[in-house]
Amino acid sequence: MIIQRVVLNSRPGKNGVPVAENFRLEQSTIADTIQVGQVRVRTLYLSVDPYMRCRMNEDTGSDYLLPWQLSEVADGGGIGVVEESKHDNLAKGDFVTSFNWPWQTVAILDGSLLQKLVPQLVSGHLSYFLGAAGITGLTALLGVKEKGHVAVGANQTMVVSGAAGACGSLAGQIGRLEGCSRVVGIAGTDEKCSILVQEMGFDAAINYKKGNVGEQLRELCPGGVDVYFDNVGGDISDTVISQMNQNSHIILCGQISQYNKDVPYPPPLPPDIEKIQKERNITRERFLVLNYMDKQEASVLQLCQWIQEGKLKVRETVVEGLANIGAAFQSMMNGGNIGKQIVSVSK
Ligand code: NAP
Repeated sequence: MIIQRVVLNSRPGKNGVPVAENFRLEQSTIADTIQVGQVRVRTLYLSVDPYMRCRMNEDTGSDYLLPWQLSEVADGGGIGVVEESKHDNLAKGDFVTSFNWPWQTVAILDGSLLQKLVPQLVSGHLSYFLGAAGITGLTALLGVKEKGHVAVGANQTMVVSGAAGACGSLAGQIGRLEGCSRVVGIAGTDEKCSILVQEMGFDAAINYKKGNVGEQLRELCPGGVDVYFDNVGGDISDTVISQMNQNSHIILCGQISQYNKDVPYPPPLPPDIEKIQKERNITRERFLVLNYMDKQEASVLQLCQWIQEGKLKVRETVVEGLANIGAAFQSMMNGGNIGKQIVSVSK
C-alpha cells in the first residue's frame, strides 16, 4: 500500500534554529496485510512540541528521548482511526492515540501500544486529546499539583512564562482553579496578552518583547511571586525568580529559550540568581509529566470536565496537511499562535 510520510531530512545542529526544510515529505509503502496483534490506522492528527527539538540532535541529552534518525520517519503524539484490526481489544472505527505515532498517512502499529480514546469526553473534538485533554493538559495540571504547592485561601500570586503556549495558557487557568488569587502571564505579543486576560481569566499579562519585564512584574505582583510556572528559562526566569518570596515554588516545566543552545537540562541558574533561590528557600525541582502517568486517567477526566463546564478555555491552531508539518514545527518553535499547534492529516 502506498503512503506519504515525513522523515528527518537534516539536523539543525545543537546550536542551530530548526527550519521546515529539516523535514522531507516522501512516498513510501507499507504491507498490504497485518499480523496478529497489529492494527492498520489512518492518521488524523499529529502534535508538534518543543521537546522534539532535542530529538533533532544526534544525542538528545536525555535518557527518555531517542534521537530521530536521518531519512527515517519522525514520530510523536498522534491520533488516528483503526481501519483494520487483528488485536483483541481494538475494532475498526476505534479512535486511538500514542506518544510515538509515525508521521505518515497510514501505519501498521502494535495494538498493545495504543490507547483507546472516548470522543464523548471532549464532545467529539478529538484533537484535544493531543492538547488540553492530553499530555499538554496533564503537564499543566500535574505540574501545578505536584510542584506548585497551591492552596485554596493562601492568597498566592502565580506567574507563568510562555503563558500563551499550549501548557502555559492552561497552567495559568489551572492555577486559578486550584486556588491562586492572582495570575500573571508573560507572552510575546500584545494579541496573546490580551487573549490571556480577556478570554482565559489571567489578571494581567506582560509582553516580554516590550518594555522592562522586571518593572512591570513589580507593579503587577506587589506582594511578590509565590508560584512560578516556568516554561522558558533564561533572562525571563531570572527576572521572575529575583521577585519570588521566601519559601516559594518554581514549577520547572520547560526551558524553551535554551533549546537551540548546547547546554545541559535544566540549565544552571546564574550565580546571583542561584544565591537568591537558595537564600529564599525557593524550590526548583525537575518536573517530568511522564513520571506521573499513574495519575493520567483521573487527571484527564478532571481536564475534560473543566473543558465541558467552560472552566478551562482552550485554543488550538490546526494546520492542514502532512506536507506542512515541518512548517508547523518551525512556527511553533518561533512562538506560533496562542495555545496548541496541531497538524491535521486527513485533508
Ligand atoms: P508551545 O505551545 O510552543 O509554547 C511555548 C511558548 O513559549 C510559546 O507560546 C512562545 O511564544 C514562548 N516562547 C518561545 N520561545 C521563547 C523564548 N525564547 N523566550 C520566551 N518565550 C518563548 O509549547 P508547550 O507545549 O506549551 O511547551 C511549553 C514548555 O513546556 C516547553 O519548554 C516544553 O519543553 C515543556 N514541556 C514540559 C513537559 C514536562 O513534562 N516537563 C511536558 C510538555 C512540555 P511567545 O514567545 O510568543 O510568548
